[in-house]
Amino acid sequence: MKGICGKLLDIDLASGKTKEIGIPVETARRYLGGRGLGARLLFDLLPAKTDPLSPDNILIFLTGPFTGSMAPGSSKFVVVTKSPLTQGWCDSYSSGRISLEIKKAGYDGLVIRGRSNHPCYLQIGDKGVEIREADRIWGKDSFAAEKTLKGLEGNASAGVSSIGPAGENLCSYACINSDFYRQAARCGVGTVMGSKRLKAIVAKGSKNCEFHDHKKVVELNRANYERAKVSQVFQARSKYGTPLTLNFTHTGGILPTKNFQFGTWEKALGKIDSVGVYKSVKSHRSCQSCFVHCSLITEAAEGKYKGTTLEGPEYETLGMFGSNLLIDSLPTIIQANVLCDKLGLDTISAGNVIGFAMECFEKGLLTAGQMDGLELNFGDDEACLAAIEMIVHRRGFGDILAKGVREAARQIGGGSDRFAMQVKGLEFPAYDPRGAFGSGLSYAVSPRGACHRRAWPPAKEILGGYPPYTIEGKGEMISDLYAENCIFHSLLVCDMPAKFIPLTLDDYANYFEAITGEAISRRDFQVMAGRTETLIRMFNNREGFTREDDNLPYRTLREPLPDGPGKGQCIGDENLQRMIDDFYSCQGWDSAGIPTEGTLKKYGLTDEEIKW
Ligand code: SF4
Repeated sequence: MKGICGKLLDIDLASGKTKEIGIPVETARRYLGGRGLGARLLFDLLPAKTDPLSPDNILIFLTGPFTGSMAPGSSKFVVVTKSPLTQGWCDSYSSGRISLEIKKAGYDGLVIRGRSNHPCYLQIGDKGVEIREADRIWGKDSFAAEKTLKGLEGNASAGVSSIGPAGENLCSYACINSDFYRQAARCGVGTVMGSKRLKAIVAKGSKNCEFHDHKKVVELNRANYERAKVSQVFQARSKYGTPLTLNFTHTGGILPTKNFQFGTWEKALGKIDSVGVYKSVKSHRSCQSCFVHCSLITEAAEGKYKGTTLEGPEYETLGMFGSNLLIDSLPTIIQANVLCDKLGLDTISAGNVIGFAMECFEKGLLTAGQMDGLELNFGDDEACLAAIEMIVHRRGFGDILAKGVREAARQIGGGSDRFAMQVKGLEFPAYDPRGAFGSGLSYAVSPRGACHRRAWPPAKEILGGYPPYTIEGKGEMISDLYAENCIFHSLLVCDMPAKFIPLTLDDYANYFEAITGEAISRRDFQVMAGRTETLIRMFNNREGFTREDDNLPYRTLREPLPDGPGKGQCIGDENLQRMIDDFYSCQGWDSAGIPTEGTLKKYGLTDEEIKW
């Protein structure tokens, strides 16, 4: 099978020993790569109940069969591990030069084990890997570390992924930063990297990835570009990027506002929405291997942070640091984004945690005394930025906030868990599910906690004319969307070009055949996705997760939305349980969320044994 190298690099940071692990062809066919292969590897290689921050946890970086092929959006990689934030399954995605360079060095991915006894980084190339000392860059921010490493290696085109001080200080939602502005952000992948004293990975390869019919890939790209050019969604997305999403989440009443108390915010319009952000755009950029150009280079136009530049901000950051904190200053959001990227913090979780702390402050559950004298009021730009620093450096109550919103609510008490907006310990992203019930189901059943990447129901419930405040059909809708994104995330392509160009699964099957030389059907793709999601469910079940963990916070279930088109709506306990029943049934799991014998047989999971 072309498109894959057929081997992984296995690195033990404790002993310094490295080896290659072969990927059997049949396993590559059954799991493809990315999320699929990651599910098989984590299930097989990680002993049950491993402490995520112990040396025994493993950190897996994976590419996919499309990596390096120039198919649209194919510069992604995934980091798979056990999450310190949720204590369960974690897959976190990013774009980055490193994915291509790992493959050009001859590997489909890395399996990193153990803990180094001193700060280190990995240098990966055609001849394998060297573990090098990182004393000079430990303590530096991610941008400085990347610049230093590119200089040290004498090659600006190397792929570099690194952690900032947040990862070194074991903040539970630390990210891994690549190419300065790209993050594998969710679930604390940077925390696990920090626990291994691994500051960075540098990769530079020179081998050619082997593809079956590269000419055909180029032909498909040409045809799809012609199709994209006449798509209005593609044009809008290429011009305005993800900030466009804020306009429709506000209109649809699902924009997180004041720690998810409200679903709309008029003050956002013209300031931090697509129109507001567009005024600060200096240029457009794309991830490697993508012609969508949805990434914006912006510059703060005024105020204290005038001149600060950023690749971003993306919608999620605008929602979580903007409306969610009642901050309508784009320069402040740009500054918060740069700070989080440099220091290595997930902007979604950070904005969510700070919003929660602001509500606690407003309700008298958290005092300025606990926050080094900081008055944590909604709308206070400087307090927001100071809170980021306190979390990263774990000063005062920042030490507790660094553990995530679930743990902060446990420590604060006073009923604050009712408005701690999380599932399984992962903070909500920027969509209020009270205005789109399918989003609530998707957050609840996601194996990594409240996740916007497994499914994107607003496309159907807000833009697609699918009734947003009903539960009928939502189980099937989320099951289908989960399968579709699992396919993208196993091939390892960005799921966005599929929506904007648009591309169908048949288009991806055409690319698959051109890249690997093997025919694949829609049905094959779907079976692979069902197998993968079932295996991930089995992983979480083995870790002790049950149906009770598939839940939503009190605010989402029982506090009606006070504004917007969904005014008066909340999901309700019974509605959530009925949607979960439907979803389990579509997945082939019993009412406790355990895959049935028939499902295991269907996916060949009863006696699969791989000799890694
Ligand atoms: S659609 Fe945007 S985020 Fe996705 S690969 Fe293309 S440029 Fe990157």
